[in-house]
Amino acid sequence: MEHRFKDQTSRGPATWFSGEVWLDPVAQGHGATPTTVALVRFAPGARTAWHAHEVAQTLYVTEGAGLVQSRGEPVTALRAGDVVVASAGEWHWHGAAPNHLMSHLAISEGRVEWGEHVTDAEYGGGSE
Ligand code: MN
Repeated sequence: MEHRFKDQTSRGPATWFSGEVWLDPVAQGHGATPTTVALVRFAPGARTAWHAHEVAQTLYVTEGAGLVQSRGEPVTALRAGDVVVASAGEWHWHGAAPNHLMSHLAISEGRVEWGEHVTDAEYGGGSE
């Protein structure tokens, strides 16, 4: 049995995120597929850049209120308890709502292709 205190919290890099984002790695797969689980905390207004995952990614919203958008589709609201699956190769972003913190678990594997930051105009299409 391994019992340890979590690894240190790190700031989400500005190349991948807008605003204040904190990352806590929780788990890494031990089998052939390198799945990772991370707790990601977004300050109000903070969000990822546009990106696409090599393998589908699952998000589980643990706290707060957020927004998610798939390219070409409307911005939709997220709240605690929601599960979102981004398909392999699907360009999207996720983040906090303008006036709320949002935390999600991100279950990911494979590489991530990163694109442009989400502009205020794109983000402003949100539900608040
Ligand atoms: Mn994603």
